[in-house]
Amino acid sequence: MDKDKALVVFSGGQDSTTCLFWAKRQFKEVYALSFVYGQKHVKEVELARNIAAKAEVHFDVMDVSFIGSLSSGCSLTDSSVTMDKVKPEGGVPNTFVPGRNLFFLSIAAVYAREHGINHIVTGVSQTDFSGYPDCRDAFIKSLNVTLNLAMEEQFVIHTPLMWIDKCETWALADELGVLELVRNETLTCYNGVQGDGCGHCPACKLRREGLEKYLQKKGLQSAEAKL
Ligand code: ZN
Repeated sequence: MDKDKALVVFSGGQDSTTCLFWAKRQFKEVYALSFVYGQKHVKEVELARNIAAKAEVHFDVMDVSFIGSLSSGCSLTDSSVTMDKVKPEGGVPNTFVPGRNLFFLSIAAVYAREHGINHIVTGVSQTDFSGYPDCRDAFIKSLNVTLNLAMEEQFVIHTPLMWIDKCETWALADELGVLELVRNETLTCYNGVQGDGCGHCPACKLRREGLEKYLQKKGLQSAEAKL
């Protein structure tokens, strides 16, 4: 396998876009793989395609729409369901798509194998833990072992955002020189609004608070540097 190639599981959101540029810095050749999984905002795939073109990486889309139809009650795939604004006591918010990362990463691994890639990058993070069990480090490590056993390969799943928060994710995007691109061209909003988003859904709130914290910190640093 070629150690110079990496595959990024790519949604076109803030986290995976930051990971895409992180991967570009680490690896010679980068592939981005997006998924159509029955999400309400299919527009995100088009935005992902545009970002991948700008980043000059290979881009592919897999249709796994069956994931959305497997389970009911998810507000990201079922338009009759109203989104949970806060995490319910002792459960997962209804923005959780059961099995999503399990399916995505398993399919990504088969795709990677087919293209002679053994590095797989995903933007999951345990820090701003919203109750999604498949964003946790233990799950990723366990799946990495399983995929290696399943295909007799040596995949390495990279999670550059696992232990950093949204503020630090913005700092990383800035360090990679893509803060403006991430800010304006990605889609994180649960209501499908590009860039700074609708401003009030849980994803927008988390993203905005992180950005404000980072810009404030950066402003303070540059003010201190001038003194
Ligand atoms: Zn929003």
